[in-house]
Amino acid sequence: MSRYWSSLTHGLTPYVPGEQPRMTELVKLNTNENPIGPSPRALEAIRNEATDALRLYPDPQANALRAALARYHQVRPEQVFVGNGSDEVLAHAFAALLKHDAPLLFPDITYSFYPVYCRLFGIAYEAVPLDEKMHIRIADYQRPAGALIVPNPNAPTGIALSRAEIATLLAQHPDAPVVIDEAYVDFGAETAIPLVASHPNLLVVQTMSKSRALAGLRIGYAIGDADLIEALNRVKDSFNSYPLGRPVQAGAIASLEDEGYFQQARARVIEGRGRLNRGLVRLGFDVLPSSANFVFARHPAHAGAALAAALRQRAVIVRHFSAPRIADYLRITVGSDGQIDRLLSALSEILGSKPAAA
Ligand SMILES: *Cc1c(COP(=O)(O)O)cnc(C)c1O
Repeated sequence: MSRYWSSLTHGLTPYVPGEQPRMTELVKLNTNENPIGPSPRALEAIRNEATDALRLYPDPQANALRAALARYHQVRPEQVFVGNGSDEVLAHAFAALLKHDAPLLFPDITYSFYPVYCRLFGIAYEAVPLDEKMHIRIADYQRPAGALIVPNPNAPTGIALSRAEIATLLAQHPDAPVVIDEAYVDFGAETAIPLVASHPNLLVVQTMSKSRALAGLRIGYAIGDADLIEALNRVKDSFNSYPLGRPVQAGAIASLEDEGYFQQARARVIEGRGRLNRGLVRLGFDVLPSSANFVFARHPAHAGAALAAALRQRAVIVRHFSAPRIADYLRITVGSDGQIDRLLSALSEILGSKPAAA
């Protein structure tokens, strides 16, 4: 705290990202990074940008990248917005689209950055409880709303809605902007992008951090009606005109062009999720049905915080949230086969050696 802080700063409650510890031999399964690594073609494209041309600013509109994304997702370039990670795209969407007289709706258990943005931008919100099976119940969103934001699959549960359910949500709220945060969609959920053509209020946000293994490069994007994209551009150009550097734009384009690598990497994560799931069930965990590159699991006889701490002692890091309904769950990233084995053997040691706690 400091008397030099603005009142805005005093009022903030920042998001706390999963840690990035620098230990060797660490099994890092806490931030949903992709164990497989980026496309070699993306890496080459990034290297090729390390030239004298870096003295020049990048294209502020990222036209080549937006054109590549438009082709990939079969929309027009004016329907594409890109930013420095989808967190930045989401922040611009909160500022540009989600503040209205009626409250913003999102699930009570969801990406914990949403209430942080609400605080930053002074947006009133209502958290809509998940049902007893931790599912989003679309009927519960049938209430007055200025705007909505829903991750699909939801985080940290990993549970997905169908495109038909998203369409129902949109039909309930034709006058409110609806943002669908599809950070994990490539691991098994249906994208809402085909609904953009018939829904001028829909903004779909995706990222290259998870399924394209480019978290370190920072590329997020949004697809929606050109009027929604214009709103995002107005905010972006009031904040930072050059959010993506030259190597970033080139790497992102090359990743999109390497479809074969993408499909293979995606399939490997989905296969790993199956193995992780079966291993956890064998150890007695309840595992929610995940369509993401992580699973959300709890053990009926062991507290989540205690398990996370015991794993950490064995150099395995998973994510634990202390929020009320999810304090007994662990969010575990689908790592490589070797990482999954290390996690499962650490858990079996912990469960075998410790007496059952509440
Ligand atoms: C990881 C994540 C993001 C942010 O990803 P970026 O790395 O900023 O692109 C956004 N939403 C959800 C739900 C996420 O899990």
